[in-house]
Amino acid sequence: MRLSVPAPEDFGVEMVGVPEGAAIELDLRLEAVLEGVLVTGTATVPLEGECARCLDPIASTFEADFQELFVYPDTRSGGNAEDDELRLEDDLIDLEPVLRDAVLLALPLSPLCRDDCPGLCAECGARLADDPDHHHDVADPRWAALQDLAGELSPEPPEGGRGDSGPRGSVDQQGKQEG
Ligand SMILES: [Zn+2]
Ligand SMILES: [Zn+2]
Repeated sequence: MRLSVPAPEDFGVEMVGVPEGAAIELDLRLEAVLEGVLVTGTATVPLEGECARCLDPIASTFEADFQELFVYPDTRSGGNAEDDELRLEDDLIDLEPVLRDAVLLALPLSPLCRDDCPGLCAECGARLADDPDHHHDVADPRWAALQDLAGELSPEPPEGGRGDSGPRGSVDQQGKQEG
């Protein structure tokens, strides 16, 4: 049995959710069992949200499976009925709490627009996906000071070769070729 229901309000988590009134597609199977009705189904919900890294809007669909037993109102579960058991009321099944549990628990808490989303620049907030080469040359002044210090401490470059240190009366040539 298939049906479509409008999404209730507040159907989502912090970063992502189902827009209110959006169509939730339900694929349901109802089985009469001894104590009530066993409902097995799959909900396909449209999702809207924000990428947790770059805050881009995300639109996708999401599927959640659920199974729940709705007991008849006059049924006592062997004398130790649970307070939270779901009951059929006037032969109606209230699926909303079931959907809520099934969908909200399965929603990604940190949805991403794509798996390798590079997110935003920590310094200026630019979207790195738009500008893969984005970087800042300006170093923190404290680090710049350290770099100056490191330059002063570095040893003098070695001069010439050893052994033949006799004066040759020639100018130093640094035409050493590499490669
Ligand atoms: Zn993103
Ligand atoms: Zn930046």
